[in-house]
Amino acid sequence: MRPILINDITLRDGEQAPGVNFYPEEKCRIAEQLLKMNIPIIEAGFAIASDNDFDAIQMISKRFGHKSGPVICSMARATLRDIERAAESVRPAARGRVQVVLGTSDIHLKYKFKKTRNEIKDIAHKTVRYAKTLCADIEFAAEDATRSDIDFLTEVTQIAVAAGATTIELPDTVGYATPHEYAHLVQHIVDHMDPGITVATHCHNDLGLAVANTLFGIMAGASQAEVTINGIGERVGNASAEEVIMALKTRQDYFQIQLDINTKEIMKTSELVEELSAIKVANNKAIVGCNAFRHESGIHQDGLIKNKSTYQIMEPEDIGVKGYGLVLGKLSGRHALQDKIQSFGLTMNDQEFDRFYMAFKDVASKKKFLLEEDLLKLIKKHGYETIK
Ligand code: MN
Repeated sequence: MRPILINDITLRDGEQAPGVNFYPEEKCRIAEQLLKMNIPIIEAGFAIASDNDFDAIQMISKRFGHKSGPVICSMARATLRDIERAAESVRPAARGRVQVVLGTSDIHLKYKFKKTRNEIKDIAHKTVRYAKTLCADIEFAAEDATRSDIDFLTEVTQIAVAAGATTIELPDTVGYATPHEYAHLVQHIVDHMDPGITVATHCHNDLGLAVANTLFGIMAGASQAEVTINGIGERVGNASAEEVIMALKTRQDYFQIQLDINTKEIMKTSELVEELSAIKVANNKAIVGCNAFRHESGIHQDGLIKNKSTYQIMEPEDIGVKGYGLVLGKLSGRHALQDKIQSFGLTMNDQEFDRFYMAFKDVASKKKFLLEEDLLKLIKKHGYETIK
């Protein structure tokens, strides 16, 4: 079994999601949750972007960047000023990292930089070498790697390594790659690197392939995966942390990857990021959507009562959710409701139950289905106390 490093980039790429702005204290709250999840690398922000972001990275470095804590990473474009600011922001961390980003695709060279390939090679060399004088741990990201000429990309990454980078990130910046293409790219770079160099995935979800591409990249030899909680990020976002983590864990038999993540904190982290980003998690989102462990059909409910493995591949408790949900509806009988009420540690006499059952039917008939929290609200409304 091979270990994999998870680099959570919610506080950097996640913040690039349209409409998201995390204040420094909010970033610290998210970082604290990531620590509870035992995330080994936290990319905390883009230092030169604003004083707020610089302060947030510095605060996280001070509060959480202790010796046995996570690596705290700060992003910089391949310019000296960006790099200085990034290095300064993570200086209080015992294990600070600067990530130097430089586009390598011809599209970026021609339209963004107006520079030749030789000029880009020179910039990679100079900026990484400079970064290395300010910070021991340097990650080099070849922006738009998946649309770059593979031989040129290989050359630039080798230059970055020679100048001191120890992690090479291969971003699918525009979410363009397919799983096999991405795996081929990762494998090619891994094959052209010293074995001590970490190759990292960074996949965007424009075609809905970010998680698949990340998993293919890992299978092809990447040993770091850059992911965000709830999959938030630039445009439609990045590979979702909880999906990558739970895929690797649930199918460890297949991936053969060793993960030391505390998955029990996933739901809490997801809820916090949902609240602070104001990006609502879809009901049918894998792992953290509210329907992830809810079963509605009678056939499935019957199977689950007999044995959970009939229709469930993960334990809800593994991500910090209490039990799977039974969906009660207007067709639910008195017995199902009675059972449910008893499971809340509540007893009602016949007369009380009759009255409550009528109220339940009334609410249920107006809704598509009734959730546990709806039922708990109704119970409370009727003046009963539950132990739940
Ligand atoms: Mn990105």
